[in-house]
Amino acid sequence: MSVTTETTEKIHDVIIVGSGPAGYTAGIYTGRANLNPLILASSVKAGGELMNTTDVENFPGFPEGIMGPDLMANLEQQAERFGATIEFEDVASAELTGDIKTLTTGSGEVYKARAVIIATGSAYRELGIPREKELSGYGVSWCATCDGFFFKDQDIAVVGGGDSAMEEALFLTKFARSVTVIHRRDELRASKVMADRALAHEKIRFEFNAAVAEIKGEKKVEGLVIESTLDGSRKELAVTGMFVAIGADPRTELVKDVLTLTPEGTIAVDGRTSKTNIPGVFAAGDVIDPTYRQAITSAGSGCVAAIDVEHYLAGLPAVS
Ligand code: NAP
Repeated sequence: MSVTTETTEKIHDVIIVGSGPAGYTAGIYTGRANLNPLILASSVKAGGELMNTTDVENFPGFPEGIMGPDLMANLEQQAERFGATIEFEDVASAELTGDIKTLTTGSGEVYKARAVIIATGSAYRELGIPREKELSGYGVSWCATCDGFFFKDQDIAVVGGGDSAMEEALFLTKFARSVTVIHRRDELRASKVMADRALAHEKIRFEFNAAVAEIKGEKKVEGLVIESTLDGSRKELAVTGMFVAIGADPRTELVKDVLTLTPEGTIAVDGRTSKTNIPGVFAAGDVIDPTYRQAITSAGSGCVAAIDVEHYLAGLPAVS
């Protein structure tokens, strides 16, 4: 039930910002509730981080696993099937206070809604070392599935000790001659199954208690200088690529000045609900989750937000 103002400006019931598992699941649920959701899906990052993933083996319902991009394409289609409209646009600014919320995109389009769900996910972390950004695309990468192919028969490094780093390292063994995992501690953070797979792989080596101090090479990566986190000693690692897989930070840029954040930097929500500190503004997925950050928990969180929006728009007592 969307209403139209005198200036024929459409006011949507709900706009969802983001198109990862949380955004699309919110789209499916609000669509089925006849709320005709508009999903602002981002121009370049539509589908979220799963677009950079290979096999997703732990999303329930896919006993043989499913490729990340295929899962996202399915979720997108499912949301559209129930009436969601998807615009591949980036939201540049948001006016969230008041009964009607206004979102302006990078291309200057203005959208209005009675409720908004922020499902902007998280963004890859950077090491913050000199020339990391400059050499992005020239040997430095955040996406093995995107760039792995370019490192055929080469020696490359993966930085990080979590599941992402293990997944990237394992994937890269398809192309690379060797993959060296550089981790700042002597113990992996990754789940046992992923860690065991990587530790057992003949092409994967480990540099524990080590951090990347320097990237060698003028126009492209020609080596790394790694520094011991125990005694500060340095040595050179002859690699032509460095994949950074050290986790992600919640993407709160759009809302950090108006929505309350937690000490971890995620959007604060009320208990198990998706309610933020502003009525009519809800948040879901990685952007509210400093802990679990799984595709399935994000999807569940999108469902919660959709039900909260339904209650809010119907003027029903809020779920608490
Ligand atoms: P994560 O679990 O937070 O791990 C990040 C890793 O990077 C940690 O080992 C951390 O070291 C290291 N790190 C962080 N900042 C660093 C820095 N500045 N310099 C060097 N190293 C740094 O992140 P993630 O691996 O992206 O995983 C995120 C979530 O997604 C997890 O819940 C994970 O289980 C899930 N995930 C699951 C799968 C799967 O099941 N197939 C695949 C990918 C991700 P410390 O250990 O010392 O903190």
